[in-house]
Amino acid sequence: MITASPIAEETVRAEWESALVGAAKLKERGAKRLFNSTPNIEQAFVLKGRSLVCVDEGIAYGIHLPGSGVLMSTDQRRAEIKNAGIEEFTTHENCGAFRMAFPNETNPNQACQEWGRREADALGLPYRHINVGELDRPPELHTALVAYYDGTGVFNRIPGLPRGFVISRKHFSTAKEDLELRLMNIFRNFGFGKLFTRENPLYLIALAHPTDPSLSAKILEAEARHAAAGYGAPVRVEAIRTNWLMRSQV
Ligand SMILES: [Zn+2]
Repeated sequence: MITASPIAEETVRAEWESALVGAAKLKERGAKRLFNSTPNIEQAFVLKGRSLVCVDEGIAYGIHLPGSGVLMSTDQRRAEIKNAGIEEFTTHENCGAFRMAFPNETNPNQACQEWGRREADALGLPYRHINVGELDRPPELHTALVAYYDGTGVFNRIPGLPRGFVISRKHFSTAKEDLELRLMNIFRNFGFGKLFTRENPLYLIALAHPTDPSLSAKILEAEARHAAAGYGAPVRVEAIRTNWLMRSQV
């Protein structure tokens, strides 16, 4: 989440241009039409395994929670992870949420793995640490143009959908605050920040649950708009009803 060392401005600019290419269809068609026209879109709503992963846009698959819950209280984290039916606990290298939770650690990557292993043991789950080389993004830069606010609980980014971080609104009670924090970090600390404009905004895509009225498009869109309110035109909110997209699972 936080860049470990200063990154050259031209590198950021090149990544920005490349990310815009990846999001060209989204810009042209809007989120609904992009989802409706993406081949095998139903696969975006099939979980291959219930791995708990960070919201980092470099991690495409899993159930997403900042730092695997490192910002939550221990009791709350463990209770919600059990309720979500998590089968594997993961952490990842250069995790900004971990650094935020433990700002005084001199070796945060090592401490993060020790913490992750302890948590996995306490939960009786297998543990995996994701190295920075395995992330689908440059090691030192966040390149998300999209925030997926996931009410379905099973969304995973498939080829054809632009890179974006994912917040699991269905499974975790802190989702609203997590979304707000993530937006604040993107615009203040890391990622493309000031490059976002009305013309090339950060897209906040809310994915409604197909049947649960407490996770409707209307509710999630209102929450997303609330989180985006302070940023004006550089954040564009759209909500998607997933009934048709998830028709084989509903
Ligand atoms: Zn992280």
